[in-house]
This record gives sequence, structure tokens and C-alpha cells, in this order.
Amino acid sequence: MPTTRDYYEVLGVERSASADDIKRAYRRLAMKYHPDRNPNDKDAEVKFKEAAEAYEVLSDGEKRRIYDQYGHEGLRGRGAAGHDFSRMNVEDIFSMFNDIFGGGGGFGGFGGHPGRGQARGPARGYDLETEVTLDLKDVLTGASRDVEFTRMDVCDACTGSGAKPGTKPETCATCAGQGKVQQAGLGGMFRMVTACPACRGRGTIIKERCPDCHGRGRVGRKRKLSVKIPAGIHDGQAVRVPGEGEPPAPDRSPTGEGIRGDLHVVVRVKDHPLFQRDADHLLMEMPISFTQAALGATVEVPTLDGKRTLEIKKGTQYGDLFRIHGAGLPNLRTGQRGDLVVVVKIETPKKLSAKQQDLLRQFAETEDKHVNPESAGFWKKITDLLGG
Ligand SMILES: [Zn+2]
Ligand SMILES: [Zn+2]
Repeated sequence: MPTTRDYYEVLGVERSASADDIKRAYRRLAMKYHPDRNPNDKDAEVKFKEAAEAYEVLSDGEKRRIYDQYGHEGLRGRGAAGHDFSRMNVEDIFSMFNDIFGGGGGFGGFGGHPGRGQARGPARGYDLETEVTLDLKDVLTGASRDVEFTRMDVCDACTGSGAKPGTKPETCATCAGQGKVQQAGLGGMFRMVTACPACRGRGTIIKERCPDCHGRGRVGRKRKLSVKIPAGIHDGQAVRVPGEGEPPAPDRSPTGEGIRGDLHVVVRVKDHPLFQRDADHLLMEMPISFTQAALGATVEVPTLDGKRTLEIKKGTQYGDLFRIHGAGLPNLRTGQRGDLVVVVKIETPKKLSAKQQDLLRQFAETEDKHVNPESAGFWKKITDLLGG
């Protein structure tokens, strides 16, 4: 069944998204949920197909307009509904998008070099994406992380041809090796060129499949790498590891000759229980007692790298800020450290001994005689306001 989820939601884009945003979002999802990378994962397959369906509609100006106005029903009612991806096999969907992405470039070239120009240059493979999680201390010092991911590599047994060792792929008779055929579209209203269904766009047919890769020419392999994350990195930024993506797709370069894609390591920074990040600065709330606030004090402040002392000045108010220069995070480019900003919270004691209560009462009595100027101003303002 085609999806009933909102297509924009499926692709995770705004309704105002540009054609480029939509393409980028779709590529991202296609990379993430491609069944080759998620073997035996039904959920990933469903998501892959859902994304393909959403992309088919939102990448087509006319269909998108109908969908925006009338929703899913509008498309079906107007005969503009696309393929039922849930019934199609993954390879067919894939070769269909070879056409959509233009120039037979397939998905190769994610990450900066997509599109037609690619057909002239050397074939380029998929970029891959993986994620690592850091805490603020790692951001302070920089970190090294082992990442493990699965990528499709050239099958050793058939060196990527997909044919059983000792045999060769043959030219496809249906498309005469072109990889493309003409088909009627939208109920015969026009003709469109699509990937040849007999050879799935490759132009060749494999009579006997390679047993190792089942004719795909690629097998999933685990790869482990150590990746250096620079100090000062922000949540959501990615470290690019050139050449650690996949070799070019088999339909462009069966032997995998060409340029490998890159690996993008997306960094997630965990929230810290004490410090909040604001660019290269850190913010922290610190409780002090009301006597410290009133009389002034020297207090110890925790930072990401040890304790520092801070002078609390006499008469500090709730919410006053103190800045400790250089106790924040390093700037990603310059390495220069930001500040730690301490926001003072004044705590009122909940439990007082008899003696403390007594002393405070004595203090309160003195307050009546020496009304402090600020609070005098406050009462004057209130009186003026109320016209008293
Ligand atoms: Zn093989
Ligand atoms: Zn063919």
C-alpha cells in the first residue's frame, strides 16, 4: 500500500522546501534506509520505499502542486499517482532514480558532485554517514573515536561483474545494451524513457549469478576506523573522512574503478548536567547563600578543567553574572577559549537554628531604622503609580 503519511513529513522538510532541499533530504534518507545497508530489516525497506514515493511526488512541480492542494486523494483522483513502490523491488526503484538523478550517474556523487556533469568525469561512489556522541569534555580537548559502519564493496569473487566466476555478463537483448526503454506514462498521455526492466538499466544480463553477491557485484562489508574529532566542534557538525565511502555503483563502474565517496561523521554533543553551551561560552547557575551575596565572598567554581576561584562582590543580586575568562570552550578555528558565565542564584536557608533565628530577628529590627535606598525608591515608585 502507498503511504498515507504526509510526504513533507516523510522527507523531513518544510512545506516551503526548495527543489534542492527536497533532493538533498531524499538522498539522505535513501542512503540511510537502502536495503543493501539494512539487510533483512523490513522497517528500513518500508522507509526506503516511503521516501521514494514522497520524492516522486514532491520532485515533480505539477504533482507537488496537486498534492499541496488536494493531498493524497487529489493525486489518485487525477490519475497522477505515481508508482506503487510498496510493490516494486528495490533494484527497480533504484534504477528509476538513476534516471531521475540524471546522466546515468545513479546515486554516486552524493556530497557535492551530483548531477549531469558527473557523466564526463570519473565515476564516484556513495558518501556514507555515521554518528558519534561526545560530551563537553571531549569538545574541550578534542577526541578520537572508533566508528564501525557497513559499506558496499566490490565483490572479490566476480570482481564486481555479478556473473558467476568463469562466466561473463551478456548484452541485454531488450534494450540492445542501452539500459533504457520507452514506456507510456500517465495512461498513454506521453512517452517516457525509463530504465530497461529486463536488465534494470545495466545494459547487460547475467545468465549465471555470482553466488557470493547474488549478481549485485557488491557485498556489504564492515569497516572500522578511528576518527579524530577536533576540539570546539558543535552538535550537528560533521567531520568528513575522504575516500571512506563506497566505490562507484556497479552500473557505472562494475569493477569499482573511479573515486570512492566520503564518510561523514556527524557529531552529537550530549547535554551537560551543569554547563549550558552558548557558542564557545559556557553558562552555569551557581547557588550562593544570602550572607555570601550580602557580605561578599570568595567561592570555588567548577569548570570543565578543574576548579577556579571567583570573587563575589558585596551586595550581589539574584541573577547577577560573573565571567571567568578563558574557562569556556575552544573555538573550532582559532582554538581561543570562550568564557564561563556564572549566573548567581541566592538561596534562602530553610532550616535555621534558634541562635540563627535570633540573630536574624535582631538584624530585621535594624532594617526598619535603616531602610535601604533602593527599596525606598521602589516604594516611592509604587506610591506614584497608584497615585497614593
Ligand atoms: Zn560477486
Ligand atoms: Zn536491457
